[in-house]
Amino acid sequence: MLYDIIIVGGGPAGLTAAIYARRSGRTVLLLEKEGFGGQIAFSPRVDNYPGVPYVSGAELAEQMLSQALALDTDTDIGTVCAIRNENGVKTVLTEEGDSYTGRCVIIAAGARHRQLGLPGENELIGQGVSYCAVCDGGFYAGGTVAVAGGGDSALQEALLLSDICETVYVIHRRREFRGDVEKQKRLFARENVRVLTPMNITALHARDGALASVTLADAGTGAERELAVDALFVSVGMVPALGAFADVLPLTNDGYAALGEDCISPAAGIFAAGDCRAKSVRQLTTAVADGACAALSACRYLEVT
Ligand SMILES: Cc1cc2nc3c(=O)[nH]c(=O)nc-3n(C[C@H](O)[C@H](O)[C@H](O)COP(=O)(O)OP(=O)(O)OC[C@H]3O[C@@H](n4cnc5c(N)ncnc54)[C@H](O)[C@@H]3O)c2cc1C
Repeated sequence: MLYDIIIVGGGPAGLTAAIYARRSGRTVLLLEKEGFGGQIAFSPRVDNYPGVPYVSGAELAEQMLSQALALDTDTDIGTVCAIRNENGVKTVLTEEGDSYTGRCVIIAAGARHRQLGLPGENELIGQGVSYCAVCDGGFYAGGTVAVAGGGDSALQEALLLSDICETVYVIHRRREFRGDVEKQKRLFARENVRVLTPMNITALHARDGALASVTLADAGTGAERELAVDALFVSVGMVPALGAFADVLPLTNDGYAALGEDCISPAAGIFAAGDCRAKSVRQLTTAVADGACAALSACRYLEVT
């Protein structure tokens, strides 16, 4: 089947694009590699999405997916590894060996967690190093944990961990935190939260194959100390998941799709939307805005070709 629009990535941007494209009468295939809903499915609490004062991320993701499915969006699971663009037809290939054809492709592949880049970090994933408190926090209930980072996600992770852990160290390389001020107030008021700034984590130390401590270096003086922890939750930003699409999209130096708000790329019929696009704010609201813009740009492209 030749789809009008193939969407790569089933997060908020991709799901919104599917809803808009189906409501415009276009045939749509939505491809997702892991779980529909994207990053927000890992958030225990979303309270900044207009019209929905409080909802869990998983529930919001489920509602977005239900809405797309109710509009007869086709879906499939697969990791897209390449897009071939020949004679106006896009062939989308997956690592699993499947291929799909469409007249347009919207790349809404989002972003994934950035690592600290320390020796041993990869080996200790699941053994004390984690990038997701919702997923792994429960393993360290009652323990001593650290969160590395100063943005919204780091604050959210630390809040969640402080509900279940005895002590939560929040380690940030700057004195000021970038994340939401309300979240900062809630977090720093908690008795089991200790803020360590301005500090860099310079080494990870394991005992019996699991993380036992980290080395902290004062960002000003360089003075080092060792901090014993049961787990380290790394929340130092995201990197865009566009490695497979560098040949069809213009990318910024840090790997984001260098496209404007209309989400249109120089390659006819290829669009990019959501957290993978270069922009200053990466939130649900901006992801769904991109999904709508990309779908409507794709519909306009289909009308004139
Ligand atoms: C813990 C956490 C809490 C957050 N809390 C909030 C909040 O309270 N409020 C708020 O506004 N925002 C919040 N955010 C940010 C928000 O979740 C993101 O801005 C939003 O999910 C971005 O949507 P997206 O669709 O662009 O990308 P993503 O959500 O990253 O979705 C991209 C999807 O594409 C899939 N994918 C990637 N590559 C491929 C491929 N090659 N083939 C197939 N599929 C692929 C991924 O598996 C993923 O499902 C939070 C984020 C996190 C991590």
